Amino acid sequence: MDERNRPIHTFQVCQVMEGHQNNWLVSEWVPRRAAQKVFVEVRFTLRDCSSIPWVGGTCKETFNLLYRESDAPLPPSTSASSSSTPATRPPAHFAKVDTIAADLFISLVDTIAADQSFTQTDLGDRVLRLNTEVRQVGPLTRKGFHLAFQDLGACIALVSVRVFYKKCPSTVRNLALFPDTVPRGDTSSSLVEVRGRCLEHAEEREEPKLYCGVDGDWLVPLGRCVCSIGYEEAHGRCLGCNPGFYKAFAGNIKCSKCPPHSSSPAPSAPVCSCDRGYYRAPSDPPTAACTRPPSAPRDLLVSINGSTLFLEWAAPADPGGRRDVTYVVHCWRCGGGAEGAGQCEPCEDDVHFLPRPLGLSSTRVAIQDVLANSNYTFQVEALNGVSAQANRRPAALNISISTAPAGASVVGLISRDWASQTSIALSWQEVEQPPSPILDYEIKYYEKEQKHLSYSYVRSHTAGVVVSGLRPSTLYVFHVRARTASGLSSFSVPAEFSTADKSPELGGPQGSVLVMVLAAVGGFSLLVILTLFLLITGRCQWWMNTKMKSKEQRRSHYQNGHVVPFARGKTYVDPDTYEDPTQAVHDFTMEIDPARIRIERVIGAGEFGEVCSGRLCSPGKQEVGVAIKTLKGGYTEGQRRDFLREAGIMGQFHHPNIIRLEGVVTKSRPVMIIVEFMQNGSLDSFLRGQEGRLTLVQLVGMLRGIASGMAYLSDMGYVHRDLAARNILVDEALVCKVSDFGLSRVLEDDPEASYTSVGEKIPIRWTAPEAIAYRKFSSASDAWSYGIVMWEVMSYGERPYWEMSNQDVILSIEEGYRLPAPVGCPLELHQLMLHCWQRDRRLRPHFCDLLSFLDKLIHNGLSESVESLDYPFFISVGDWLDSIKMSQYKNNFIAAGYTTLDSVSAMSIE
Ligand code: AMP
Repeated sequence: MDERNRPIHTFQVCQVMEGHQNNWLVSEWVPRRAAQKVFVEVRFTLRDCSSIPWVGGTCKETFNLLYRESDAPLPPSTSASSSSTPATRPPAHFAKVDTIAADLFISLVDTIAADQSFTQTDLGDRVLRLNTEVRQVGPLTRKGFHLAFQDLGACIALVSVRVFYKKCPSTVRNLALFPDTVPRGDTSSSLVEVRGRCLEHAEEREEPKLYCGVDGDWLVPLGRCVCSIGYEEAHGRCLGCNPGFYKAFAGNIKCSKCPPHSSSPAPSAPVCSCDRGYYRAPSDPPTAACTRPPSAPRDLLVSINGSTLFLEWAAPADPGGRRDVTYVVHCWRCGGGAEGAGQCEPCEDDVHFLPRPLGLSSTRVAIQDVLANSNYTFQVEALNGVSAQANRRPAALNISISTAPAGASVVGLISRDWASQTSIALSWQEVEQPPSPILDYEIKYYEKEQKHLSYSYVRSHTAGVVVSGLRPSTLYVFHVRARTASGLSSFSVPAEFSTADKSPELGGPQGSVLVMVLAAVGGFSLLVILTLFLLITGRCQWWMNTKMKSKEQRRSHYQNGHVVPFARGKTYVDPDTYEDPTQAVHDFTMEIDPARIRIERVIGAGEFGEVCSGRLCSPGKQEVGVAIKTLKGGYTEGQRRDFLREAGIMGQFHHPNIIRLEGVVTKSRPVMIIVEFMQNGSLDSFLRGQEGRLTLVQLVGMLRGIASGMAYLSDMGYVHRDLAARNILVDEALVCKVSDFGLSRVLEDDPEASYTSVGEKIPIRWTAPEAIAYRKFSSASDAWSYGIVMWEVMSYGERPYWEMSNQDVILSIEEGYRLPAPVGCPLELHQLMLHCWQRDRRLRPHFCDLLSFLDKLIHNGLSESVESLDYPFFISVGDWLDSIKMSQYKNNFIAAGYTTLDSVSAMSIE
């Protein structure tokens, strides 16, 4: 009976009086299923021998648990003794799991029926010693197994046997689904790596992974999925955006309300479509409101000054919701005077617009060279970024004006005075007195054979001109007209003249004079050069000697095939320049006895194996936390060399902002690299978890640390090539340290690196244009990457250039686009970034400049610094606006009196 007085079935044996007992109880066949290791929980009572009167030394207080694996149930004869007749021979091939004894756990049961298996206490109560013992059985490999219990003379009652295995249950983490997973069955504590599958409407951002621990717990979540375009995360799933909302980018952001003048009637909209009559320009992001073409310009005025007209107008009353309104000016000339009166023809080609007739952003244009005695009509159209989509004529405003008569052509026949291979001298006479005095003459000319390609113009204040810059042996056509206070006269009759042939002779009398002058100048120059040469050779000898000496002193060395300039102090030595690169590991690292290392848990996954955290004990020193990078089994010699290469590089650096190498394990397996442990992990993920929670001083302090580490590396002559927040590690005091060394290997490992057109792997968003285009890696290209790291830090780990494709990033950088200042980023820090992103790498700051600038910023106190700092890097407000592609606001800044960056930095929101 159990504790509630219910009958229970037990298997009992109590042959304590007779010696030589060997009683077996064998279970039925238990299928193994997915288990690699099973747990057997046995509940039993065991009578203590001292409680049985007259019992001798034959009484036992233990029994054995055994098992036997097989692919099918064993026949009863081998597997079990029949219940009625005890087996005479013990079953064969059972392996012992353990000898089981009663433990000290005692359960007091008051009203329990008397039974041989219960111990009698001194008080006369019966006490049930119901023991529960759990044993592990495995690793199992066959399809199933039998369990067996062997009694050698104890008084036992077996109450229950429960056989089970543990698994990590199917779960959803970071929007990825992980299936049921059974832990490893072997005795090592290694974890099972499980790759998750993104849920419906989610996509992979970083490969989602979990590790299944031996006890069926999920550990170390890595990577993540994010909701796709049109879907947002809710209750651990990705749900479609509601109608009226949209989501244009994949990521863990919420759906947004449709921008003005757009809607999304269906759910899961990636973008909201524009209402009727509203449009988005091709360059508008999906987040932009829909807009429409502008209304017509207003208040068009025309004035005339000599042969120049000035048009002026006011901006449209309705710019269509956009700020990119531009204007186009059309011109028609309707013949004045007697000939062709009333006939109009386009005149854009005959007059000159200043600055131009198309794409005007200002509301003013000057039109030069209008003809006298003509009627002009001008039309000003207003356009914006969506006018092209609107499929209707832009709104426009017209105005007409008549110019005063200036008389007919006042220029008579043109004659050629002389011609050389590249010049022609012309002169002409006035045939008629003009109505007002002649201001100057305009000479139009072109190559006769290429009439339609281009016209050229020159002006002259006299009745003659030398037109130069011509091509030899070419026929040119010339027209001349006069400009008077009341407009331009008509063009003269055209004249055709040819330049001289390519022969050495020059045309005209000036030719021989020119030859003589050139000869004289040439002779004199030769004399000067010879004299200088004789004077200098003595000095040169001395200079070359000095140079040779200093060259010898230099230890020039190779870095990835390029000689890098000599650096002050210690120089970095590339392990690849060793005949045997593993020698570099011996030279620069310390071999650690693996017995001093204790691995605690997996913290990340590197290209070569797991990264774990653990402790390192050193004799006479305190234990320190370390990160342990392991090289997984089955590696090739090349992989081992590449893996250890990083240690060979890291071991050369000793700086508080460079990750410290503790040592390597190369003489035993697994091969390991041991580095100091950085509690806050990599900078990018750290920042993402801290959004808005760090002070400006903390952020700038972190940047200073990175700059200091990089200044040290560049002084050593080391070029990092993959400087990015993900390759910076942060400790508990927020000290940032540069990590991930190994050049080409690092790039192979970096998930951000992608192949360029020449098949090289490069992290495009972080890399300077010259390094992408022709592999010109240098400390200056590291400075560019540093600017990007600054941006990542100031934007709390935002992805540089957001969701733009790599190709778009390259193109926009080429066109002059640069990342704007992150929200809340002080202007001077953004200027510093822009300084790092200068196209000409010689103009970028050195790391020591960056360091001293940041020091100055920190010391001046960041809040007041806005007033107190000068701006060593940017020259004018105009340059700054150009660099952030805001040139169109130059006039606004100047008009409002913001002419220096000091004044810009003091500007308020209003
Ligand atoms: P790695 O292969 O060096 O990129 O390392 C993979 C990941 O392991 C990193 O992203 C870090 O999260 C982590 N890790 C590497 N080194 C350390 C370290 N010294 N301290 C703490 N975490 C580290």
